[in-house]
Amino acid sequence: MKVTNFYSPNFNRKKRPEKSIKIMIIHYTGMQSERESMFRLCNPKSKVSSHFVINKNGKIYRLIQDYHIAWHAGKSCWGKYKNLNKNSIGIELVNKGHKFGYTNFKKKQILSLIKICKSLIIKYKIKKKNVVGHSDIAPSRKIDPGEKFPWRQLANNGIGIWHRCKPSLLKRYRNIMIIKKKSKIKFTKNLNKIGYCYSPKKKSSFNKTLKAFQRHYRKELINGLLDKECLIIAQNLSKNL
Ligand SMILES: [Zn+2]
Repeated sequence: MKVTNFYSPNFNRKKRPEKSIKIMIIHYTGMQSERESMFRLCNPKSKVSSHFVINKNGKIYRLIQDYHIAWHAGKSCWGKYKNLNKNSIGIELVNKGHKFGYTNFKKKQILSLIKICKSLIIKYKIKKKNVVGHSDIAPSRKIDPGEKFPWRQLANNGIGIWHRCKPSLLKRYRNIMIIKKKSKIKFTKNLNKIGYCYSPKKKSSFNKTLKAFQRHYRKELINGLLDKECLIIAQNLSKNL
């Protein structure tokens, strides 16, 4: 795997221990061009960065060494981890994003991503459930990498988790709304088991967390409403963790 080094000054100067790396976070750049994205990720004024950037041709750039903390996650939470920069590796995929014309990720881009994910997972013993999108860890602020990101394809390659339900069966339960309080509580418990940090006691929004869940696992309908299909998917995911 060829990785091209590129320098970004946006990292903590103090090195982190290898064992603190637990999570892998996928982003899209969300800017007009690759050039603009690289400029921003390497500009000291922007105060943002990521360890890797993968362009549309599948070329992999390393901006920050793994033993340095990059600045990509922001205020975030996953499982027992909070403000995830210190515990994570950030990977940016070049894509204009929802603001500037969201397009499918390129085949070569995803193949490179799969390669680099595989090697990082082995190197840092990252758990399957800890490969997530920016929207999963910051659902009230972020929607990247978005519903066009091929989570299922990644899971087929051993990266991240996916459910084992038959799509044609699942579809029957779409839009069958859940109103029972008991079912909603069960769904919330499953969300937490998967890693989502939603808590009814805190201010975090249920609808936005549900939307993040849908963007990841039920991209056909992202409406922030709890239906039976979401319930079944969450149940299946948490059962197989
Ligand atoms: Zn992001």
